[in-house]
Amino acid sequence: MTSKNSESAAHGSVRLSGRVVSRGTASGTVFILPNHTRFTEIRDVPDSEIENEISKFDSAVISVANDLHTSLNDGWETVSDDARAIIDAQIAIIRDRSFSDKVHGRISSDRLGAQLAIRVVSDEFTDQLRSLNDEHLREKAADIQDVCDRLITALAVEVPLFDVPIGSVIVCSEVWPSTVLKLAEFKPAAIISESGGWTSHAFILARELGIAAISGIKNVHQRLSNGDRVIVDAINGFIELDDSDDDKNATVLVQNLRSEISISSDVTLADGTTIQFIANVDSAEKCRQTIDRGVNEIGLVRSEYLFDLHGRLPDESIQDKMYAEIALATKGRRVAIRTFDVSIGRLGSGGTRRERNPALGMRSIRLSLRYERQFRAQLRSLIRANFGDNLSIVVPMVSGASDVLRVRSILLREYETLVLSDPNTKIPSVGAMIELPSAVLTIDQIIEVTDFVCIGTNDLVQYTLGVDRDNESVADWYQTLHPAILRSLKSIVEAAAKEGKPATICGEAAGSPFYLPLLVGLGFQRFSMNPFSIPSMINYAAMISIEDCADLAERMLRSTLTSKNERLLTEFCSFIWPELEGERVNFPPKSF
Ligand code: PEP
Ligand code: MG
Repeated sequence: MTSKNSESAAHGSVRLSGRVVSRGTASGTVFILPNHTRFTEIRDVPDSEIENEISKFDSAVISVANDLHTSLNDGWETVSDDARAIIDAQIAIIRDRSFSDKVHGRISSDRLGAQLAIRVVSDEFTDQLRSLNDEHLREKAADIQDVCDRLITALAVEVPLFDVPIGSVIVCSEVWPSTVLKLAEFKPAAIISESGGWTSHAFILARELGIAAISGIKNVHQRLSNGDRVIVDAINGFIELDDSDDDKNATVLVQNLRSEISISSDVTLADGTTIQFIANVDSAEKCRQTIDRGVNEIGLVRSEYLFDLHGRLPDESIQDKMYAEIALATKGRRVAIRTFDVSIGRLGSGGTRRERNPALGMRSIRLSLRYERQFRAQLRSLIRANFGDNLSIVVPMVSGASDVLRVRSILLREYETLVLSDPNTKIPSVGAMIELPSAVLTIDQIIEVTDFVCIGTNDLVQYTLGVDRDNESVADWYQTLHPAILRSLKSIVEAAAKEGKPATICGEAAGSPFYLPLLVGLGFQRFSMNPFSIPSMINYAAMISIEDCADLAERMLRSTLTSKNERLLTEFCSFIWPELEGERVNFPPKSF
């Protein structure tokens, strides 16, 4: 047992508490995931490693130069002459002999790791240029810094993931959705992370894959060591070092409430009213399984997930194949595919392009409209996949009706071209993700130009309250029951009902029994969730009535305080489902 730190002693062992982000319990041997996205400060490189660090740097130069070159000729952008000149200059900087000599020198003489050596040399160059007080040289300094950051990131992402022991408990500082997908191949027992909340894409996927996970344990990757055996209780939110001598294999004691039983999307409440539970899924295979189990609609496919394993967004022919597979897998049932909801950092050369504020930056529909050539390709693939007339397109991060109108006009142009060669071509219906306050304030205008709306509560809370959904340190401000969120939800559901258009809750709140009475009380009838949540949600729904829920929602809408709303909802849930009181498995963290 090699624990480096401890939080509390329980039953003779070390216990670390965190936040449940995917429920389940498991035990296994710790595998510390190398930090593959962050800068790692390595000093005192041993003699035997110096050559290796130098050649890592040389390879990074080649790969970044190649990526930059590709982005000029084959990237998302139609590159202007000015942009071409900047990229050419960046390629020249890292290929320059004096730059590489300096980095080699820092590695061999000062014994710095390749990333740190690049950082030190880049700082030297840029400090000099910035001190000269010349606008042109200042820009050059920014270019040097930018391309050096790309090099550092390129070195960071090279950590391989191919030798994770099967059944490990993965321990990391942070984890990305693509990493979770890769890790799934090694059937991890659980994931323990320092950061990331319930609505982080990585943990949405972990839940979908049935991998138990706990997050929010500070420095967990430094407090545990490879080979430690741990018990993970991702129901009550802690891990414990397992100091028994028992040399048992990794076990997953309770997998995330998975079930193969058949289910129905038409869900009956206690008073006989019917609501709809449909599914969020991210692959053709899962669509097929979900539809086969009896779910009659796929409410959200996050198209960017389909390509996470490819490392970059795909060309049109790959998209044709993926969307057609999904359309077939749903066997004629409706499926809503969301257009790419990524930030610019995810495009091209290993996601190296940095933005100061990616959540507010060039992302989602803005990115698609900015890179129209690639967006047209995605829309064409989606139109082709609509051969069964069952496919809808959902537009992410819509800020107002104009975004939707622009999408509609591009979609129409592509449709008009495709229908010339295939008269059976059908244009998909179009919906908007409502996740920005501006979309809520103009919901009547958006409803007018869409066929349906999806409410992305994960982002709606983030953007309305100005709180990063992935930042543990502000998790207390991420309040789904804030009066502003309740009012927003109310105005969305009313606007949709007025025009008779469907409004589906698609964020993680949709799959939580805790929020169900409120959402039903506000008037929502469609909930799209992780398919594994549906069976238990059906049981909860059978015990609530519209009248009681509406009364609850009324009282909550009148309240000024999030804390009061939490109390009202908790009391309601405890009264209706007394047997569940205190069982956190059924009352997930309220802040999601
Ligand atoms: C949301 O924001 O609630 C949502 C459904 O989309 P995502 O989690 O992918 O941002
Ligand atoms: Mg969203």
